[in-house]
Amino acid sequence: MTVALEQGVVAVVTGGARGIGLAVAQRLLGNGVKVACLDRPDADYSAVQSAASSYGVECAILRADVRDQTAVRQVVLTATEIGPVRYAVNCAGIDGLAPSDQVTGAEWKRVVDVDLDGVFFACQAEHEAMRGAGGSIVNIASMSGHIVNRGVDPHVAYGAAKAGVIHLSKGLGVEWAREGVRVNSVSPGYVHTELTAHNAPEVNATFARQTPMGRMAQVDEIADPVLFLLGTGAAFITATDLRVDGGFTAW
Ligand code: NDP
Repeated sequence: MTVALEQGVVAVVTGGARGIGLAVAQRLLGNGVKVACLDRPDADYSAVQSAASSYGVECAILRADVRDQTAVRQVVLTATEIGPVRYAVNCAGIDGLAPSDQVTGAEWKRVVDVDLDGVFFACQAEHEAMRGAGGSIVNIASMSGHIVNRGVDPHVAYGAAKAGVIHLSKGLGVEWAREGVRVNSVSPGYVHTELTAHNAPEVNATFARQTPMGRMAQVDEIADPVLFLLGTGAAFITATDLRVDGGFTAW
């Protein structure tokens, strides 16, 4: 796919060591965009590093926990050492399954801290790193921010956090529109990643059956729409959410 992205600039990708974030990072590198990959301090960054060396494009490793506002700001600002930050994709996220009458405060906080606060802290730092020069941010929300998933263990904290990501993306998109920073979200349906790999085969088969297109997505099918939203093809798109769910939320 050809996408209209600026060459030689930097994209910060949180959760970029694996899954959807890694696919986004690989696609960006393949399009000549430098990647500053932010993931947990002990993450395995070898896949993104090897993509960077095979494309001959620079890559920076930013080790931080997205729940730590100060650490996120510190490492994101260092991304400018390899070039001007113009793009950001916030993918770091976790799930947390439990019936609501049993969810402890700590478990609720664990999910919301990563999935909502972590996205906000990343956006704040990325906006600062863009230094008034404009840019484009895409936050990975979920179709679970729009609907309640059926046939799975309840995960109200996850859905609530993802609904929050959709709204915070709209809010920041409006707040930063006049300074040329676009902010959008993408809401994937079920995707084959580590997050879903631990499911029993019959669970993923149910997910596929429930999806109008009859299957789960591959990571690249999420990465490509993300790159579209980042690029100039989406120059007049901000403060919106793009559902990439194989039709799931339409029925
Ligand atoms: P993965 O678990 O494969 O990747 C998520 C990455 O984020 C991991 O490298 C993970 O590190 C990292 N991460 C998690 N918590 C933190 C943290 N506190 N600080 C820094 N990094 C962190 O997930 P996916 O690629 O599947 O998911 C990416 C995003 O897409 C998530 O926001 C998810 O909610 C969303 N999504 C996924 C769907 C799916 O079906 N897979 C569907 C809809 C939305 P570690 O491995 O150490 O935890």
